[in-house]
Order: sequence, then structure tokens, then C-alpha cells
Amino acid sequence: MTQSFVISGDLLIGAESTGDNRTARAINPATGAKLEPAFAIASEADVARACELASQAFDVYRATSPEERAAFLEKIADNIIDIGDALIERAAEETGLPLARLQGERGRTVGQLRLFAQVVRSGEWLDLRVDPALPERKPLPRPDLRLRQIPLGPVAVFGASNFPLAFSVAGGDTASALAAGCPVVVKGHLAHPGTGELVGRAIRTAVAACGLPEGTFSLLTGANETGAALVRDPRIKAVGFTGSRGGGLALGAIAAARPEPIPVYAEMSSVNPVFLFPAALAARAEAIGTGFIESLTLGAGQFCTNPGLLFAIDGPDLDRFVAAASAALTGRAPAPMLTPGIHAAFDKGVAALADHEAVKTVAHGAPAEGVNRSPGIFFETDVEPFLADERLGHEVFGAAGLLVRCKDIDQMIAVAEKLEGQLTATLQIEAGDHAVAAKLLPVLERKAGRILANGWPTGVEVSHAMVHGGPFPATSDSRTTSVGTLAIRRFLRPVSYQDLPEGLLPVELRDEGIKGLPHLLDGVRKAH
Ligand code: NAP
Repeated sequence: MTQSFVISGDLLIGAESTGDNRTARAINPATGAKLEPAFAIASEADVARACELASQAFDVYRATSPEERAAFLEKIADNIIDIGDALIERAAEETGLPLARLQGERGRTVGQLRLFAQVVRSGEWLDLRVDPALPERKPLPRPDLRLRQIPLGPVAVFGASNFPLAFSVAGGDTASALAAGCPVVVKGHLAHPGTGELVGRAIRTAVAACGLPEGTFSLLTGANETGAALVRDPRIKAVGFTGSRGGGLALGAIAAARPEPIPVYAEMSSVNPVFLFPAALAARAEAIGTGFIESLTLGAGQFCTNPGLLFAIDGPDLDRFVAAASAALTGRAPAPMLTPGIHAAFDKGVAALADHEAVKTVAHGAPAEGVNRSPGIFFETDVEPFLADERLGHEVFGAAGLLVRCKDIDQMIAVAEKLEGQLTATLQIEAGDHAVAAKLLPVLERKAGRILANGWPTGVEVSHAMVHGGPFPATSDSRTTSVGTLAIRRFLRPVSYQDLPEGLLPVELRDEGIKGLPHLLDGVRKAH
């Protein structure tokens, strides 16, 4: 570990390491032990200072060339790798997640920074359009119109508890906002503040190495009030959030109540329904059963894409599936959950299901040995009670799954109509199911951001065609995604330039500048 990558408990406000109220401690969820050091809680003045620096940095940062911005993103990735094993070891201590998972997550984190560097260089995100003037057009001449996308301004990012690297300080929200040209102020998650500080220092070192203004990036730690002050600050122009429905709604309400309301991109809650079709169950009920339990229990079920709800038509093949899933779950040792709070919330959600008169416990994992862990659990119910109690369709964050037995395909479609918005919907199908699956697809398109066949929703590819979004409550804005390159659009807005003299146009919209870039000329796509 190089000297600059230390864990001091400081707030990283621009180039300054600061903070007075050092009262926050990370906890090792696997043991319950408190970890050193104590972390500063950002005051309102700290929040205001970070936002002021971000605001001062904005015009300089957004004017960086695509090459400069891409090189900055790549430098962050390199610096994260340079931290070495210390990053993985600290993340494991703070989260209880296995080393291999964290190594994979680090790969995803630097991979998405490098992917966004490619996106910035490609120029597609600028969405350049030119409608040349038509001075002779009758009855009215057309003006010269040129369009590009510009960044919104400083963005507040809330680190997610369940991805200490890939959706935290240098995660997808930060990468997409920086790629768009927005300075970022992160409110790190107190589930992994040391991991956050190491990564924050890697970003700050990249800011300095690339000669960027110090306010391009700041990292704050704190409590609810810190996050609320950040969203209220008039210099913040958009918010990226991953967490609970309550947290996302609270921050959305704060943003909407500002004198200048701003967009909040909150990814909150999804139960990720899986539909088991008859031919698929007949062909491979056992394999589907074990595959389901693998996905359900992955990472102690702490994924936003965890498959928490299954629908299938009652019958002997469904019983085969239930038997296989039960066998795969029984005896499985539970892993520690991320925080005592998340563990307590899981136990509460499971107790509500277990105590429900219309819900039967089918199987559960081995009893917990150690703190902050509970066995995975598999329930079942019928359609009528499911439709009568909307709470049965709510997310229980962790390894809890509920099977809903349907009488026929029409009932399966009818119950799908009643679902809330989802990140994903999964079909287990064979050729003999295609005709009936086609009837369900229009419903699922209205409900979910990603529809997948014969896989499991956990494991989200970071790529150009990925959507990790969906109607409320999956997210607060279904028009975009928080994973994949399309995420950059959340932090951009179009500006149209009408009849501006060539010398006043942005370089990429001038006749010479646009030649090397993808654009639309009078509605026709020009690659370069
Ligand atoms: P969380 O409680 O929503 O917290 C996420 C972040 O938002 C934290 O920084 C938190 O600050 C802040 N926050 C929450 N409520 C706030 C409020 N009213 N005002 C200002 N800031 C607020 O999420 P979590 O800690 O990650 O986990 C708790 C629960 O969230 C889980 O049990 C699970 O149900 C859900 N969750 C869902 C997903 C998903 O992908 N669907 C992912 C993670 C968690 P503080 O730390 O100060 O509270």
C-alpha cells in the first residue's frame, strides 16, 4: 500500500483531509467487533464546503477533452488496483463478504471505470445533431440548429451497503457522473467506511495527477442528516442512490421540496419474480430447483436482483421443483449479513412471512452459528392470499423466497398484472412454453427493466445493452439504468444552439470539429 492510501477516518473534502466529530465505527459483521479507526461525521459546514468546491470545479471539469476525462477515469482504475490486497482485506473485515467475491467486485469496479473511459472517447454520449439552415424554405426559412448533451452539474452519490466497491465510492453512479462531466460528492456508507476512504484516496490522487480542480471529487461520511443536507444543497444538481425504499423516498422528497427541485435516481426495492412454465418444469424441475437456491442464497441474498418470488402452475412437476429446492437449501450454512441493521430487517421480514396464516414454510438452511446471520428460507402460498395482502409481494432483503402456486396460465398472467415495478423478471421456459410465455411478455415489459430466460437474475453484466432499472419501486425513474453505459444519460441534458456564429459554437459542433464524431445530419446517422 502506498503512503497516500491510508485509513485515517478523515473526510476527504477536495484536497483537504478533515473532520471533527469522530464517532462512527465500522463493525465486522462476522464477529460483531468494532474496527479502528473512528470516522468523522460531516457537519453541515463540511457538506457546504464540499458542494462549494464541486460547484467551483464544474466549469473547468466539464471543459476537459474526452481524452483528458477518459484518462482520468483510467487513472482512478489504476489507483484502485495499486491499493492492492489491503483494499480487499479491509472490505472483507467490514462486510463479511468472501475474498473471492470482493476480488471479483474490484474487477467489476475498475472494468466499469475503463468502460466509461471508452464511452467518453467514442463521443456517442454527446448525441450531436445538426439540422442545417434552410434559408429558402417556404413559408418560413429554417434556422441552423445544432444540439449536444452537457453535464447537469455536481452530483451527490450515496454509496450502497451491498456493493462496497462496485456501487460505492467509485462505483457505477460515480463512474457515470464523472464520465458525463459532473463533479461528485459521495456520501459513503457507514457499513464500509475504511474501504470507502481507501477508494476515495485513490480518486483524489487521480484528481491531482490529472491536474483537475480539487472539487472534482469529495467523500463525506455521516448520518441521515449529512445525506439530507447534501441533497438540500443548492449546488447539487442530481442524486444517485441505492438502498431502501424508505431512504430513497425520503431523499426524493427532500429533492422535490427544494426551491430548485432536482432529479433523484434511486434504485430501491425489487423482488424479481420468476415464472416457472410447465414444459420447463417437466423437463428439468430438479435443475431449476437447485439453480434457484444457488441464486437465492448468493451473498446471503443481499442483491437487489435476488429472486424473492416465484410463480408456477400447481402439479406434480412443481412438487419435484419444491423437493429439489428444499433439499438444496436444507443444511446450508448461513453467511454473515452486511450490517446488524440489515440482519435485523431480514429477521423481521422473515418472521412476518412465517407468522402469516396463509404462508407455509417449506424449507430453511442450517441454524445460524455466530452473529448477524440467519438461515435462508423458502415459503409457499396460493394466489388468493397473495393477491389479498400486498405485503407478500414486498422485498425481504436477504435469502427469503416465496413460491405462489397458480391454477393455470391465466391466473399466472393475472397475478403478474398486480405486481409492483421490478428490476428483473425471469422466465424458465422450453419450446413448448413459448406460446403461453408470449402472452405474459407484454405484462412483464410494463413491470420490469430486464426480462431474462433460463437463467437467474443475480449477476448483472456491465455493458451497453444492460438495463438495471424499472418502474417504481424498483427505481424512482424507470427511463434509465444505474448499471451499464446508458447510465451516463442520467447526468446529461440537451442544449440546442440556434444560428450561433461558428466561433461561438462548442468545438464538437463546429463544421470541422464534428467531422471526427458520430452525429445526426438532418436526421441521418453519420458514423464519422
Ligand atoms: P438505507 O437504509 O436506505 O441507506 C442507504 C443510504 O441512504 C445510507 O447512506 C443512509 O444513511 C441514507 N439514508 C437512508 N435513509 C435516509 C433518510 N431518511 N435521510 C437521509 N439519508 C438516508 O439502505 P441500507 O443501509 O443499504 O440497507 C437497509 C435496507 O435497504 C436493507 O435492509 C434493504 O431492505 C434495503 N437495500 C436494498 C437494496 C437494493 O438494491 N434493493 C440494496 C441495499 C439495501 P445512514 O447510513 O445514515 O442511515
